[in-house]
Amino acid sequence: MARVNENYLKLPGSYLFAEIARRVSAFQAQNPDKKIIRLGIGDVTRPLPDAVIKGLHSAVDEMAHEETFRGYGPEQGYSFLIEKIIEWDYAPRGIKLDVDEVFISDGAKSDTANIQEIFGVDNVIAVTDPVYPVYVDTNVMAGRTGELDEQGRWSKIVYIPCTAENNFVPALPEEKVDLIYLCFPNNPTGTTLTRDELKKWVDYAKENKAVILYDAAYEAYIQEEDVPHSIYEIEGAREVAIEFRSFSKNAGFTGTRCAFTIVPKDVVAYTSKGEEVSLNKLWNRRQTTKFNGVSYIIQRGAAAVYTKEGQAQVKALIDYYMTNAKIIREGLLSLGLEVFGGVNAPYIWLKTPNGLDSWAFFDKLLNEVNIVGTPGVGFGPSGEGYFRLTAFGNRESTEEAVERFKTRLNL
Ligand code: PLP
Repeated sequence: MARVNENYLKLPGSYLFAEIARRVSAFQAQNPDKKIIRLGIGDVTRPLPDAVIKGLHSAVDEMAHEETFRGYGPEQGYSFLIEKIIEWDYAPRGIKLDVDEVFISDGAKSDTANIQEIFGVDNVIAVTDPVYPVYVDTNVMAGRTGELDEQGRWSKIVYIPCTAENNFVPALPEEKVDLIYLCFPNNPTGTTLTRDELKKWVDYAKENKAVILYDAAYEAYIQEEDVPHSIYEIEGAREVAIEFRSFSKNAGFTGTRCAFTIVPKDVVAYTSKGEEVSLNKLWNRRQTTKFNGVSYIIQRGAAAVYTKEGQAQVKALIDYYMTNAKIIREGLLSLGLEVFGGVNAPYIWLKTPNGLDSWAFFDKLLNEVNIVGTPGVGFGPSGEGYFRLTAFGNRESTEEAVERFKTRLNL
């Protein structure tokens, strides 16, 4: 008799986006003439940079000729891309990496989801709250999280609230934890940590022999000086941190799929007997067994990001979205709303006005101004009373959305 992994049965349904879709279609059915603006999704809307398109085209042509055709590539990624990542993203920040410390993948989602496999089921995990749901759900699937309570908290997860009260700076846990998921710039709050704030986490991890899983998918959006782009800018992080990056949000690869994960050779975890094990070796073993690499064509497209032309075009994309973020941020601030994020990230996180809960504010926005955002509570219990808007729309609809907030929303 085949039996299921019952941990999967503990997962609540994917309630958030299904419920949003349900409410939006009910509204649209009753109001077919209303034009809805969607500022809810975390997906980019601008086309791929021209340099990337050229890189993709020429790689497609290579596949047409016997001399340049490629079959299976290295599971860890081609060195032409890895070397460029090190040279352009890390070396200028004084970070030294070896080629075999960088693993190319098809997404930061897969890697942040899969990384937990190389850790024992008895690790205590900590997440900031609210949080990108992938970290929690994949640990539920693995049987690491205990039971779910009515507030949406798993009994064995340590939640670290990030709210306006603590300025979205997570406090170190009082109990001892083993695996810590950090995401900065943060989805959903759009907030960041300074070097000093991040250093406290690296020091904690060193003292407690913990590992930090650092999701820097939005690194390219950082504008302010004191915000680290990589956790390896912090002394000692090579011994305790794994970093995830992606081409999705900087170069528009959400549908094209390419990302990478840094697993330094110095970062270790322990056996039950206390022996050190290299996580680089384990991750390499995992990837070479379960993953057959990202397509040559796509890796050529990603490599084109690391050219003068590619860098200028990526910068223009980021500027476009960050101008949207500024328009939303300033528009909402001018209405007296409490607004966070949107400075080093494409997400604007606002406090729902008049004590409304996240879903009540969702309905109000949908009904009064026909704008769709994401209720903060969908990202975790500490997201209750907040709401996320994204800067990934086009300029025209972003401007129109802000105009609707100003002229039509009853605050
Ligand atoms: N990490 C965070 C924090 C995200 O918000 C997202 C996507 O929204 C991802 C990872 C996924 O990135 P990718 O497209 O590389 O899988």
